[in-house]
Amino acid sequence: KSFGEIDMCEALRDNIKRRKYVKPTPIQRHAIPIVMAGRDLMACAQTGSGKTAAFCFPIISRILRDRFDQVVSGPDQGRARVRVAYPTALILSPTRELSCQIHDEANKFAYQTGVKVVVAYGGTPIAQQLYSLEKGVDILVATPGRLVDMIERERVSLKMIKYLALDEADRMLDMGFERQIRKIVQQVDMPPPGTRQTMLFSATFPDDIQRLASDFLSHYIFLTV
Ligand code: AMP
Repeated sequence: KSFGEIDMCEALRDNIKRRKYVKPTPIQRHAIPIVMAGRDLMACAQTGSGKTAAFCFPIISRILRDRFDQVVSGPDQGRARVRVAYPTALILSPTRELSCQIHDEANKFAYQTGVKVVVAYGGTPIAQQLYSLEKGVDILVATPGRLVDMIERERVSLKMIKYLALDEADRMLDMGFERQIRKIVQQVDMPPPGTRQTMLFSATFPDDIQRLASDFLSHYIFLTV
């Protein structure tokens, strides 16, 4: 199956061409249709497999498709003194370096689609990242610690999140992020209950990852390439 056989909007098709991706990698070939169909996914994928595009691409595609259905605006927008950002998609990743790579890839796919991608990571002043959020965000790429900080400052709300991806989940747990991750998912699930679609990517599947999968995913498809 080529990219040409996947149902997607014209701008996205142009961006894939611009990126010079001709053939989907195995993880992309299998993951993209699953995510496009609205299913939860747990995927075993190594760095270099093309996993970044495997979740960025269908998330952007679904956001664009959602736009035809309704225009979503945050319930508190304009009321608060500082603007609260309401992303519809959240991608969690363990490190600044990986977050920047994901941001870069998502941005290239989102080019001229109107989908806004913002990145937030720790170890650097928060002001510029808050400013980027204020200008509007559809997809937020973040490391868990910095995101919890932004939530506590009430500068970002996760109650509009429909698409949640956890990249390199095993590494996030190794780095001690489990508590932050659970706190973040709890925010996504705050009432009124919305429906979130969740994708979990990990290179390994120890018990703690399987526990995350059973806690966060529903009726998921397990994919290993
Ligand atoms: P990742 O595993 O997501 O870090 O991707 C590894 C590298 O493969 C990155 O440099 C991507 O730009 C590249 N890549 C991902 N998907 C494709 C594709 N379908 N065709 C060619 N290169 C790709």
